[in-house]
Amino acid sequence: MLIPALASPSDEIALDFPGRTLTYRELAEEARSVAGGLAGVSRVAVWAHSTVETVVAVVGALLAGVPVVPINPKIGERELAHIMSDSSPDLVLDGTLPSGPPVEVRSLGPETPALIIYTSGTTGPPKGVVLPHRALSSNLDSLATAWGWTAEDVVVHALPLFHVHGLGLGVLGPLRRGGTVKHLGKFSVAAASEALGGSGVMFGVPTMYSRIAAEVEADPTLAAGFSAARLLVSGSAALPATVHARITAATGQEVVERYGMSETLMNTSVRASGDRRPGTVGLPLDGVDVRLSGEEDGIGEIEVRGPNLFLEYLNRPDATAAAFVDGWFRTGDMAVLDPDGYVRIVGRRATDLIKSGGYKIGAGEIENALLEHPGVAEAAVTGEPDEDLGERVVAWIVPATGEFPSEAELADHVAKLLSPHKRPRVVRFLEALPRNDMGKVLKRSLGA
Ligand code: ATP
Ligand code: MG
Repeated sequence: MLIPALASPSDEIALDFPGRTLTYRELAEEARSVAGGLAGVSRVAVWAHSTVETVVAVVGALLAGVPVVPINPKIGERELAHIMSDSSPDLVLDGTLPSGPPVEVRSLGPETPALIIYTSGTTGPPKGVVLPHRALSSNLDSLATAWGWTAEDVVVHALPLFHVHGLGLGVLGPLRRGGTVKHLGKFSVAAASEALGGSGVMFGVPTMYSRIAAEVEADPTLAAGFSAARLLVSGSAALPATVHARITAATGQEVVERYGMSETLMNTSVRASGDRRPGTVGLPLDGVDVRLSGEEDGIGEIEVRGPNLFLEYLNRPDATAAAFVDGWFRTGDMAVLDPDGYVRIVGRRATDLIKSGGYKIGAGEIENALLEHPGVAEAAVTGEPDEDLGERVVAWIVPATGEFPSEAELADHVAKLLSPHKRPRVVRFLEALPRNDMGKVLKRSLGA
């Protein structure tokens, strides 16, 4: 049973959203009635606004055993047409939810599809990832062990509810534990600080942590909530080492980083009790096997195996088959391992591994080095075809306000910190990096 607290619901707060709060008793009542209204439905899409109604719709469908396709309410026409025709839901839910005779809260088969999550589309058209109840339950329990996550925790976030981060971890996570979800609606540093207290656990993406660092540095009174929080967790993209260090300096907290994806939920995490080791995504979670394949110069592709894995890509048997070798899922992410097994993500095989002058160079390492330069606010590194080198390193830079670092200065800075072959050969200045709704840099738009 994915959410045991619904079987004997209490008057504890389950959902605390702007404008509406629901206890477990209220959530169970509403969701059981939605489940009753879904009789005969085999797949349901939900407009995933950041509201209590979205959660009630999702939980209702889960109780009914009807797989849910959460949809970004700001989705563009083309992507919507793709998702609608690909997933062909027989019902789309928004503000007004169906109701029917309340369904009993019961256990469903572990392999019953629970969510169909479309990937972020960072490397190609979004694929529908079919996640069974088993993947969610087992992964949320492994995360509970890694983070010491209990019913006492109030998970505070402002993540969208159509990806695994916001919905899988940020909503179903606290509900599975019998704790509280405090959704801020729209992210603001002040609201997050105010919502976090001793039992607060913050879930955020790196762009949020960089805003937190900047605003707390400018106004130290904003540090209070973050400093008092039980845990600050980051994921969905790499947390730059500079941001990690600035958060620690400003709040006294070391952010816990975890690594996962739609297809696998979470694979690794830094443990709440233990070495936080900035720049790493920690160790494999309980029950999850992680290995590197095709290692060269210590860098290999992360492959994973475990109960956290998805069932298949919807309507894509070819892509599903191509994604597995001997039962191991090929993540497309490259990493190196510390001697004691801590995983350091280098980047994506498709866009972040640059082959230049006979070397394999990871974009992330150069991005981190560039961010250490005071003239750099944001940095992305890509490879571009080069006659001599095979590929050349290109740095895309958003300068810090009022700073005008020169191309040569930035290239020298990287060469000095790392090594000369990692020096960007071309530096391009931008006003902002192209990012999606999770703050992930869209390297395809940068020609990668
Ligand atoms: P698509 O598969 O459509 O190209 P996507 O891979 O961005 O899009 P998601 O499943 O939402 O879609 O994101 C998973 C990816 O996010 C991972 O494969 C990895 O590249 C990246 N990621 C997640 N957490 C981290 C992290 N802590 N550090 C670095 N990268 C991360
Ligand atoms: Mg992906």
